[in-house]
Amino acid sequence: MKPIQMVDLKSQYQKIKPEIDQCIAEILNSAAFINGSAVKSFQENLEKYLSVKHVISCGNGTDALQVALMAINLQPGDEIITTPFTFIATAEVVALLKLKTVFVDVEPDTFNLNVDLIEPAITPKTKAIVPVHLFGQCCDMEKIMKIAEKHNLFVIEDACQAIGAEYTFKNGKTQKAGTIGHIGCTSFFPSKNLGCYGDGGAIFTNDDRLAKKMRGIVNHGMFVRYYHEMIGVNSRLDSIQAAVLDVKLKHLDEYNAARHQTAEYYNRAFANHPNITTPVIEVCTTHVFHQYTLRIKDVNRDELIKKMNEAGIPVMIYYPVPLHLQKAFADLGGRKGDFPVTEALCDCVISLPMHSEMEEEQAEYIVKRLLENLV
Ligand SMILES: *Cc1c(COP(=O)(O)O)cnc(C)c1O
Repeated sequence: MKPIQMVDLKSQYQKIKPEIDQCIAEILNSAAFINGSAVKSFQENLEKYLSVKHVISCGNGTDALQVALMAINLQPGDEIITTPFTFIATAEVVALLKLKTVFVDVEPDTFNLNVDLIEPAITPKTKAIVPVHLFGQCCDMEKIMKIAEKHNLFVIEDACQAIGAEYTFKNGKTQKAGTIGHIGCTSFFPSKNLGCYGDGGAIFTNDDRLAKKMRGIVNHGMFVRYYHEMIGVNSRLDSIQAAVLDVKLKHLDEYNAARHQTAEYYNRAFANHPNITTPVIEVCTTHVFHQYTLRIKDVNRDELIKKMNEAGIPVMIYYPVPLHLQKAFADLGGRKGDFPVTEALCDCVISLPMHSEMEEEQAEYIVKRLLENLV
């Protein structure tokens, strides 16, 4: 059996090696390392895949979120509503821009924002909601968009973990994660569902005006060469990464399907186990299983992880500390007890190895070891 990893990028590369090696060689030969035609081609192909008008590539997912916030005319102190159960980048950029994060608790089953708690958190200073499609399934976007419309707020989707997931509205219309809000953001960090071989990110929007502005912001606030209209950033997807992504985009649905298959196998194996709750998928969304995350109870989690590691199985905790209790956000005054659902999740979640290259015997081995170590 191949060694088990959280993410197996080497095996994935082996399967597409000729295509990847060729596209990288083409970039090396063209020497168009920045802003080459590969970047334009990937952006256009991703626009088609997502059915979105504009894809603006950038340096990473964190930059994508920052640029989105920079594009919507905010003032220091303006409030942004998001979840405390996410990777820090979501709220970090809010702080960097001297805005204020207002956390709202999540739902225990989906790990996503509890939409019923959004309206009570809105104040005259609230300017945007940043839903995070955590672990690969969409938040309740129909309700979030309704709340945003009612209160005149922007919605910036953090789709860093959910590229390819599809949301279905009540009228049957479907849209891809990241294309429903005013702006969507994603990351191409290598371990993401669509990962490059370095850092990368992208911003999506159907709004021509916002697209133009964000294209300027990622390029030093420059709209006409060497005329800078605003303070921007330098955030680019380089041509080699774009070429890699163009190859991998063609396989994205197949990669997500493979993840789904492993998730279904895990689900069946753990169904009805008294100590395990398997991921719950809402009917309004598909799940691309960026992570496969279980909730466990009446189990010593540290001990379990230790035993799994000893058996050669990596197991991760996403995330061990909620953002409102992170030292970096101490100035927000968060206290234990503020977001009880998130806090309880941080204490009971474990994520199992999940990637597109999982082999049956690996999944079987993981399940067997988990079940025997739970007792
Ligand atoms: C990965 C991730 C980011 C940041 O992406 P980078 O490319 O690493 O900057 C932001 N939000 C979420 C939810 C993520 O998973």
